[in-house]
Amino acid sequence: MTTQLTPLNPAEIAESLNLKPFQGKQIFRWLHQKQVFDFDRMSDLSKDLRKRLTEECAASQLELVRMSASPRSNGTKKALFRLADGETVESVLIRDRERTTLCLSTQVGCAVKCAFCATGLSGYTRNLNPGEIVEQALYLLQDEKLGEKTPNIVYMGMGEPFRNYDATIKSIKLLMAPEGLGIGARRITVSTAGEVKGIERFASEEWQVRLSVSLHAANDELRTKLVPLNKKYPIEVLMKAIRDYVEQTGRQMTFEWTLLDGVNDSPQDAEELIGLATRVKAMVNLIPYNPVSGLGFAPPPLDRCQAFRDALEEAGVNATLRRERGQDIDAACGQLRRQHLATA
Ligand code: SAH
Ligand code: SF4
Repeated sequence: MTTQLTPLNPAEIAESLNLKPFQGKQIFRWLHQKQVFDFDRMSDLSKDLRKRLTEECAASQLELVRMSASPRSNGTKKALFRLADGETVESVLIRDRERTTLCLSTQVGCAVKCAFCATGLSGYTRNLNPGEIVEQALYLLQDEKLGEKTPNIVYMGMGEPFRNYDATIKSIKLLMAPEGLGIGARRITVSTAGEVKGIERFASEEWQVRLSVSLHAANDELRTKLVPLNKKYPIEVLMKAIRDYVEQTGRQMTFEWTLLDGVNDSPQDAEELIGLATRVKAMVNLIPYNPVSGLGFAPPPLDRCQAFRDALEEAGVNATLRRERGQDIDAACGQLRRQHLATA
């Protein structure tokens, strides 16, 4: 049987292949720090070990189908991967003046089916394993020269991370491992549509990984339409979980709010959001909608987005308005894959 190496940490690699601990670390370093998947290039391993690895192990579970780079969005690039069973997932690398951010997927499709989301549209197929999640980052970083600047990681690609909790947590630990990318917990953000059980579990993790909750609406009637998970966990239930999380961890969390023209962008919507954000001292991340054909939503005009942000700021809520980075290469979650499925 082939051993998949990327879901394993250095100790697990050593154990599963019956190697010395330092050899587990060497192999892990090649995969994670140098992003080398070819065993023959792992030059500090003995010839015998390289041969054995080639025979018994798989260095990579993903196959890169397409990498689209966008000159207009200053080097944002988006990768489409094929998994061993033929399914596809996508990830994005976004360059800012300050940092590089990698946006990773946790599932093939998504069962939450938010009304405006391309991923939800194609339904849920399966969970990714920790190696399939981490490899997205490794492939995106392959030709990047970041030097000392470790990237930020956001779990905002396809899928609902808290419906694939264990693999998500394991993948975070792999990304943080000092023999690998060594990414600091504060540089990692997990985004959930409001899976309360996951928020409760996340509160007891002993680290500073950040939590982001996709709110999009601050009253139950609208939120249930946009995020059907709201039927199971209405806003007050969600707010209680968030309050407990903030109390238990002392960490500030973020609300995400995808701005949809004429749907959730009015002064009244801002007012309701201010109420909820103030209660839990949340920051707010405003994302102008990236249109998905056939779903009937549009982003508000820029001045309306700015007015919404200003209303939050004036009320003392820390809000950022994200530019639509990489829109010209369809950098919103689920969209490249959808295109691929449509043309396949
Ligand atoms: N499933 C998780 C994480 C993935 S989506 C979640 O929903 O939080 C990451 C963020 O992108 C979510 O806030 C989601 O609502 C938002 N999003 C999805 N499709 C979008 C689109 N077409 N335009 C703008 N934001 C979108
Ligand atoms: Fe799933 Fe998030 Fe898309 Fe909603 S927005 S369908 S939870 S991926």
